Amino acid sequence: MAVAHDITDRVKRDKKLMMLATMDSLTNIYNRYQINAEIESKIIRVQRTNKRFSLMMLDLDYFKKVNDTFGHDIGDKVLIEFTEVLKKCLRKNDKIGRWGGEEFVVLLLETSLEDALKISQKLCQEIDRYKFKSIGHLTCSIGVSLFRKDDTILTLLKRIDKALYKSKDEGRNRVSILE
Ligand code: GH3
Ligand code: MG
Ligand code: MG
Repeated sequence: MAVAHDITDRVKRDKKLMMLATMDSLTNIYNRYQINAEIESKIIRVQRTNKRFSLMMLDLDYFKKVNDTFGHDIGDKVLIEFTEVLKKCLRKNDKIGRWGGEEFVVLLLETSLEDALKISQKLCQEIDRYKFKSIGHLTCSIGVSLFRKDDTILTLLKRIDKALYKSKDEGRNRVSILE
């Protein structure tokens, strides 16, 4: 009995450690380390199978103003709510990670650039229409790209970051793609 108990405790502890290492504690989606690992492993599989995937980077618009106006705790709640909307809009297989602060990365498996664009535009519109509990209206900017055969994780991330900043430069609340 005691041995069984010990093993159960250890399994529970290991599970907790695994969760702490891979998940973002505020939003309960993958943390940066884990979404990076998911992209890396996807790149290895794609190179073997010739399948494709797209990647999306999202950044909340003028989020500093949310904190300045409503306080950091409300800002935190908005990040949680934003993540819930993301999950509802995306497919079950898509992998969502918090890249840092108010930035998110989404891995769209077996998705063409055309479909990735459609999904991102729908998401951008959903957020624009959504009424956040304490603050009401908020928008986000998105950058999207398709994995290319000669890409490394760094070149791919650089491209979606560049696409995201194109969306910011052109006025925010929009999607930009870079091929
Ligand atoms: P832009 O449209 O250019 O993205 O403007 P912005 O205000 O969103 O951009 P900026 O990068 O200047 O500010 C991001 C803000 O996000 C600043 C920081 O206080 C806030 N932030 C980052 N992480 C968290 C967090 O975990 N909780 C809360 N409440 N705020 C956060
Ligand atoms: Mg940012
Ligand atoms: Mg921002």
